[in-house]
Amino acid sequence: MVIVLKEHPNERQLEKFMQWLSGMHVEARITKGEHQTIMGLVGDTSRIDMDLIRALDIVEDVRRIQEPYKNANRKFHPDDTIVNVGGVPVGGGNFQIIAGPCSVESEEQIVYVAKRVKAAGATMLRGGAFKPRTSPYSFQGLHNEGLRLLSIAKKETGLPIVTEIMDANHIPMFEDVDLIQVGARNMQNFELLKELGQIRKPILLKRGLANTMEELLMSAEYIMAGGNNQVILCERGIRTFETYTRNTLDISAIPILKSRSHLPVIVDPSHAAGKSNLVKPLSMASVAAGVDGLIIEVHNDPPHAMCDGQQSLTPEAFEDVVKQVSHLREALKEG
Ligand code: PEP
Ligand code: MN
Repeated sequence: MVIVLKEHPNERQLEKFMQWLSGMHVEARITKGEHQTIMGLVGDTSRIDMDLIRALDIVEDVRRIQEPYKNANRKFHPDDTIVNVGGVPVGGGNFQIIAGPCSVESEEQIVYVAKRVKAAGATMLRGGAFKPRTSPYSFQGLHNEGLRLLSIAKKETGLPIVTEIMDANHIPMFEDVDLIQVGARNMQNFELLKELGQIRKPILLKRGLANTMEELLMSAEYIMAGGNNQVILCERGIRTFETYTRNTLDISAIPILKSRSHLPVIVDPSHAAGKSNLVKPLSMASVAAGVDGLIIEVHNDPPHAMCDGQQSLTPEAFEDVVKQVSHLREALKEG
């Protein structure tokens, strides 16, 4: 961290500030110029509040030169992390496709979709039991019953299951879930993230609707600081001024997150696009950009889905996406 002091800083205030810094276990190295004094902080500055420093009378400007996230940072962990989801590896060259309906609706539906997506090449099953809906009058998910039905589909197909958690009090109910999803709306629910840091189950952390990549990495840091290193990052589109899509898929997030962090990065083209016909091109673009996996909504009868039918693929359309994606992956390997 570099601090630029105002011209002729008050000596007493400067001394007090230096004392405070030494209490924070960082060393301050001062360089005096003709008009400006610059202070370089050496040590672990991750716990130092930049805004607090910026507000001091003697301070002109503050800059971080080191990222505030440590556990998620590739600098301190150069090798790719491979997250093991019920025996299925994600990251470090292991590409996986998660597929299934937005929400679990019935036993017949989830078991049927699970079988179809497995046959097409999916390696994990998704399905919401607790749904974060904009309207309190919309279908909220089958809750406990949804989790039970997912377990049945897992038994029938052997696919590990992925589902969203919205409340830390529900953690004990997620015993049989292989990958716990933190949805976009809860990316900064810090108390939930802290609780998920205490368990030893993989977490799928989705980027918030209007959050920066650094904020996403800081949320991963919340989970990892508790000792749970099994985190998968997910780009799912961010809010922009564009109205032809539900969100705007931030393709640049793939190479940037992968260079800044060792964690696997997957893309959700379904929530990014909001339209089923865009799922294939966005999947292809993500694969070309080096993503470690995809999470795609697939429904047995999209026009009658209880949630997100407009963006859900039929099992046939999903088969086509998987085929095209695998052709592209082969072509990229050869190239
Ligand atoms: C979902 O995966 O069904 C979902 C609600 O996603 P997001 O949190 O990205 O909107
Ligand atoms: Mn959905």
